[in-house]
Parts: sequence; structure tokens; C-alpha cells
Amino acid sequence: MRESDGPPRSRPSLPVVRALEKVARTLVALREGTGPRHDEALAAIAGALHDTERLAFQTLDSLFEQVCVLDARGDVLYTNAKAHGEGSSGGVVRCTIGANYFAACGESPDDEGAIVIDPSAPPRIDPTSLPELAAVVRAVAKGQLDAYEFEYPAGDDRWHLCRIGRVDGAGSTLVVVTHEDVTARKLAERELRLSACVFHASADGIVITDAAERILSVNHAFERITGYTAAEALGRTPRLWQSGRHDAAFYEEMWASLREDGRWLGEVWNRRKNGEVFPEWLSIMAVRDDAGRLTHYVATFTDLSDRKAQERRIEDLAHFDPITKLPNPVLLRERFTWVAANAARQKGRFALLVLDLDNFKTVNDTLGHTAGDRLLERTAARLRSRLREGDFLARQGGDEFIALLPDLHDAQDAARLAERLLAETQLAIDLDGRELFVTPSIGISVYPDDGSDFDTLRRCADLAMYHAKTNGRNNYQFFTSGMNARAVERLAIESRLRQGIARGELVLHYQPQVHTISGARVGFEALVRWQSPELGLVPPISFIPIAEEAGLIGALGSWVLREACRQARAWRDLGCSSVPIAVNVSPLQFAREDFVDEVRRALAEADLEATSLELELTEGALMQDTAHAQRTLVRLRDLGVRLSIDDFGTGYSSLAYLKRFPLDALKVDRSFTSGIGRDRDDESIVGAVVDIAHKLRLSVVAEGIETAEQLAFLRELGCDHAQGYFTGRPAPAEQLFPAS
Ligand code: C2E
Ligand code: MG
Ligand code: MG
Repeated sequence: MRESDGPPRSRPSLPVVRALEKVARTLVALREGTGPRHDEALAAIAGALHDTERLAFQTLDSLFEQVCVLDARGDVLYTNAKAHGEGSSGGVVRCTIGANYFAACGESPDDEGAIVIDPSAPPRIDPTSLPELAAVVRAVAKGQLDAYEFEYPAGDDRWHLCRIGRVDGAGSTLVVVTHEDVTARKLAERELRLSACVFHASADGIVITDAAERILSVNHAFERITGYTAAEALGRTPRLWQSGRHDAAFYEEMWASLREDGRWLGEVWNRRKNGEVFPEWLSIMAVRDDAGRLTHYVATFTDLSDRKAQERRIEDLAHFDPITKLPNPVLLRERFTWVAANAARQKGRFALLVLDLDNFKTVNDTLGHTAGDRLLERTAARLRSRLREGDFLARQGGDEFIALLPDLHDAQDAARLAERLLAETQLAIDLDGRELFVTPSIGISVYPDDGSDFDTLRRCADLAMYHAKTNGRNNYQFFTSGMNARAVERLAIESRLRQGIARGELVLHYQPQVHTISGARVGFEALVRWQSPELGLVPPISFIPIAEEAGLIGALGSWVLREACRQARAWRDLGCSSVPIAVNVSPLQFAREDFVDEVRRALAEADLEATSLELELTEGALMQDTAHAQRTLVRLRDLGVRLSIDDFGTGYSSLAYLKRFPLDALKVDRSFTSGIGRDRDDESIVGAVVDIAHKLRLSVVAEGIETAEQLAFLRELGCDHAQGYFTGRPAPAEQLFPAS
């Protein structure tokens, strides 16, 4: 109450005041002799004071605190009902009326005590330390401290607040010690502290607004995510960071949901302080009080930018090739669907190009995969640069690319583009100072002429691409229906050949090699044929390339090797022949690491001495990997096997290698010997080969000798041996030596 509220007289009087007024009135009446008798007055006064005291005690008893009143010496004058009632603790010191507080603390009431308090720096006392407690009570009693309070755990997870205060008056000093149970407040404080901790430690942004959406509180994550500080946000509304990406209907739906369900959940685009728009997962809750009145909104949100970026990366991986950054087959098919639908609508044309890099495998094998990857990346960029704006280039896998060329006027457009791609790849790519060339073989199919779905057009372009490869690589071919027929036929042959090898349909014919002067047999060449029940006797030229491509050459070559060794041994056993048998070796067979072991096994199996076996290798097989060739030839020579180069002159040989390889003979190809007697150039070439071979101490076999004239010419030249229809056609073993 303030002074201005009215004169003190108008206040309602407290019972204690009324009692004192009664005492005063009685005293006045006694002095004036107008009131009661002396003894009656005294009784009235005592009664009034007694009432006052009762009232005071009743008041103290009704308090929640435990109250204990001491005099300056520490004698306990009064304790209220709470202090000695049920559940009272009275602190650590038990207070009972008449007892002495200091004595209860284990000290003498008249002494200074063990501890002297410095009033300028009152200590934080430990309530279980009785000397400390006594020292504080003593300091308050002496007026050194005005008051003192401390909280302490009172057992059973409860907390008490102890207050020690002083009442001075009428020449005496009283010390009042109260204990209040503050457990509920402590718990609430602890809860609040925890909530604040959770609020700020949360990785999600949290915003609390009042019912009018004014921001009351934001957490640290909010500041981090949005870039706004708490000071910038408080008092504003969440419209501060709206992105403008959502229309009015979006927010209407949000408010409707908050009104009806009390919450809203969803993805929202908001704007950071730096202007960046970002996606967030937002949850808003309307908070109502007990009466159901809306008091607050609590919004929590997660920044989805990282997750979205991650999703984009996964999306990229799913659609783009990581090395070349080109679309991958998945995206290619999607694009194809779109391009084809467009072409169908507009009755237009488009081309599908399959590009296969011709010599990429060699780069990968010799320079390693890292160099291979970089080469792919550079080649892809180059190809891309030569395409038109709307063209689409994808990596199909390995060294194969597919281009879609929409909006073609005619097929020639595709041809011109293919030529541009080929021209681009004529330029060397510099990889760490190494000049590399990767040329593509390109197959082209055209929609709708060759097909209308992806798989058909792809198959046609593939066939055309294989055609380009067999046509000497580094060129392009359009698909033609003839290719299809050939491919079908080829597939049929492949599966029949696979069965044929398994069923033992291969046979060997042997062609004699003779001495040009004496005409004596100096060897045989084993030539494989396929005795097919459906196709008849198939010449090797028709099935060896298929066997090589279909992965059957290993089994085929190995059979030939063993069969030739077996035959040589059989002839030896019969005393029919003691000359070596030459076996043709495919480059793929020769490239295998275990080739030498295979030869050794074939010899051992037939129990044949190595000198009875000759291996015919092509120039290509030796030049593909000269280090491997050198190693393998040396090991074969060490075995004792004879080694010759077949079809000499048709490939690309380095004379330096010829000198280094441990060879025994050269076989001059029929394409040169057939010119003998007709073509002076061919005759010169044959003469030169014989010359070189002899200088390198190699013997020479001339192949394809069909006439006596050719034989005479060779004899004249000094060519060692001849092989041909004139000197002996290839024939089954039993025809050559009927006994076998
Ligand atoms: P090649 O090794 O150069 O074999 C010589 C080819 O010339 C044989 O053809 C033979 O029949 C043919 N020939 C021999 N003398 C004459 C002649 O006077 N005139 C004509 N026009 N041709 C003659 P064939 O048997 O068709 O073999 C062709 C090719 O097939 C062989 O050429 C060889 O490269 C390959 N080949 C044959 N057998 C095998 C084999 O077992 N394994 C491997 N990998 N390739 C083989
Ligand atoms: Mg041969
Ligand atoms: Mg030959």
C-alpha cells in the first residue's frame, strides 16, 4: 500500500494492533481512575497480550517454512509447528525450545567459535559442517552479516533453502532461522536448464512465436541455418525468410491445417540472409494453454540442402558416366524414347551411331587403366565437340559410345557427321608427352528405315560397326540388310562349330613340304578342316575367324596341337616319316601365358621329341607384344621346337625383330609366289625375301607352288623348300601313308 491510498486511520486494524490499543486504553483508564480495578486491568492487559502472542504463533505455525527463533546467545526461544511437526528437518541442527543452537552445533554458547566470518566475503557454507553453520548464525546475531541464505540437499532428492535473519528491537536481538522446501522450484529450474540445453543443442532450427507470430525465441541452429542472428529475428515474424517460391494457396493450406489439427508438416523453400534459397523439412505446432487459448507456435526445421545435393549426386551417378561425364546407357534409353516419339510425330528421321575405339584395349593394357580412363575422357570430349547442339552422345561402356543424331534430312547427314568424328580422331592426343591415336569404327542405323525401337536400331548399328572393323577399322558403315543375313548365318555357324568341336568333327589334313632340288619331303603342314554333318567339309578360312571371335580358338588350337603330335608320333612308330609337322598357331593362342606349357604337355602326351614339331606364327602375333613374343619364342626354342613365320610379307614386320627372334624359317606367302612367271615385281620380292632370310640364317619355304615353272624358279633362286598343290595337296593322313 502506498501513502496516497489514504490516511492510516482508514486502514483496517490488525488484531495485534487492536489488542495493543486495548492495552493502551486500559492503562489510560487505570491512570485516570475511570476504568477497572488494578488487578482487573492487569488481567485485561495480560489477556490482550496473550491473544497477541497466540495470534503471532498461529501465524507462524501457518507458514510453510520451518521457523526457529534464537536469542543472541543462541538459546532457542521458539520453533513453529512445521519445525517440530511431522517431516520436519529443521536443517542439520535439531531445534527444540530451551536448547542452545551453538551447543547443538558442538560449540560453547559463550565462545567465539572455531570459525570467524569475514563480513566482506561471507563464505558459501557447507550446511553439514556444523562449525561453519554456527559461525554464520553467530555473525548474523552479532550484526556482522545482515542476513544469510543457502540451499542444500535435504535427502530423498529434496532441496531446502535456509534463511538466517535478524530482528532487532527493544534492546534485544533475535535470530530467525527458517527452512523452506524448494524442491519444486529446483526441479522446475533443472527442467528449464535442460530444455534450454536441448533447445540450443538441437541440430534442427527452432523458432518460438507468440500467437501473433511474433518471434520470441530462436536457437543456435536457426542462426546457423538461416544466417540471421537471434537479435535480428526477435520481434519479427517468420515472413522474414520467406523465399517467395510458394503461392498463397500453399500458406492457406498450412494455416488451415494448424487451425484444425494444431500442426503442419511439409517441405518448404526458404531464403537465407545471404539470399540463397534452400529446402527445409518444417514442422509447426500450435501451443494452447489450459483454457484452450492459442499462446504460441513452435516451428522446428531441418536444412535439406545437403540431402538434396546428395540425392542429385546419386541421380548423376545413376545417369552419367563418372569418367567421361557423358550420359550413361540409362539416360541414353530415356533420351531415345523422347527422340523416337518426336520423330514419329513429325515423320522425321534420326540416326543411331555406335562408335567403338579401335585400339583402346592396347592403351589400357600397356599404359594402365588410369591412362586409359584419361584417354577415354579426352576422346569423349573431342567427339562431343564435333556434334551438333541437339545431338546426344552417351558412353555405352568400355570403349563404346552411342550417338543419337535427331532431325536428319537424309542419311547423308549422318555420314557427314561420322566423317567429322573420324577427322577429329585423326589428331593425336597428348597424354603426358605421349602421342596417342584412338580411331573409332562407326556403325550407323537410321530410324525408321532400319527399325523403330532402341534394341533393333542398336543391333543394326552394332552389325554395321563390326563391318567397319573388318573393313580395316577407322571408318564408318551404314547398316544394310545383307549384314543382317550374314550375321544370322554367322551366329548359326558359331553355335554349330561349338557343338562340332565338342563332337569331334574337326579333322586334320596334311600338306607335304619338299626340298626344291631333291624333291624329298622335309615336313608336313597340318591344316584343320571341319567335317560338318550339315555344311560338309568346311575350310579353315570360314571358321577360324569365327572361332577366334567366339572364344573357341583355345579349344580348337589345343586339339590341333595334340592331334598333330599324335599323328607325328604314329608316323614315326610306323617308320613312315621322320620329318616335322608344322602347326598353325592363332595370335590369340600365342598371346596366352600358358601357351608354352600347352606345347610341352602336347609333346609329352604324344611322347614326341620337340624337334618333330614346328610352330607357324604370323607376323601380327609376334608384333602385337614384342616383349611377350621374345620371351615365349626363347622358351619354345629352349624346348627344341622349330619356329617359322607364316605368310611372310603380308604383315608388317620389323627386320630388327626378325633378327632378334630365335626363328628357323620364313614361309613366303602365296600372294607373291603366284606371280612367279607373270609378275617381275613379285619375282623380285620373292628373291629379296630368300636373300634376307639366308642372310639371317633362316631357311625359306615358298607356299602355294602350283607349277613346275614356279618350282624351277625357286630352285634357281636357292629357295630351300616348297609347298603347294604341285608338290602335294593337303590330304588326310591315311591318304598320304595308306598304312596310317
Ligand atoms: P596357311 O597356314 O598359309 O596354309 C596354307 C593354305 O594354302 C592352306 O589353306 C592350303 O590348303 C593352301 N594351299 C597350299 N598349297 C596351295 C596351292 O598350291 N594353291 C592354293 N591356292 N592354295 C594352296 P587352308 O588349309 O584353307 O588354310 C588356310 C589358312 O587357315 C591357313 O593358311 C592358316 O592360316 C589357317 N589354318 C589352317 N589350319 C589351321 C589351324 O590348325 N590353326 C590355325 N590357327 N589356323 C589354321
Ligand atoms: Mg600355315
Ligand atoms: Mg601361309
